[in-house]
Amino acid sequence: MIETVRGDITEQRVDAVVNAANSSLLGGGGVDGAIHRKGGEEILAECRALRASKYGGGLPTGQAVATTAGRLPARWVIHTVGPVWSSSEDRSSLLADCHRNSLRVAAELGASTVAFPAISTGVYRWPVESAAEIAVATVKEELRDSSLTLVRFVLFDDDAYGAFSAQL
Ligand code: ADP
Repeated sequence: MIETVRGDITEQRVDAVVNAANSSLLGGGGVDGAIHRKGGEEILAECRALRASKYGGGLPTGQAVATTAGRLPARWVIHTVGPVWSSSEDRSSLLADCHRNSLRVAAELGASTVAFPAISTGVYRWPVESAAEIAVATVKEELRDSSLTLVRFVLFDDDAYGAFSAQL
């Protein structure tokens, strides 16, 4: 099942919440800042360990990796790096990769329920209607053959909520 809600990603009681991270994995603004602020030091400590091991050069755009969710109500945070919007280059497949890879990581962890923010639509400036179309189509396709039971898109404002709801 796929649903949309208006709300804050840090308050979701799901197995895994997806973070619209940047490739440094060391925090930023928007969703990333909110997750680290509310989730606490434990998340950053695991991100630092990832930078010191598997992701020395940072997490590449489109890929996903999990950490603890620290003090958030969720059990895991799945960090993924969205593409920055470009009007001259089609980066849609990278935005689809974020959703696909996040759901694959979630399934590997044994999660059943996952919440996504509107990846790339903030600081990375992706037009929200386009982001909604790519996100929902990718999740629908990925859920066809998956152990996941719920994907919830958590939208911060009316525009994003309207755009994502229109795709369902
Ligand atoms: P990106 O860098 O991938 O663009 P941002 O975090 O800047 O990511 O923004 C992604 C989207 O998340 C934006 O639409 C923004 O309004 C929204 N957003 C910001 N804070 C939260 C939050 N706490 N919960 C859910 N969505 C949020």
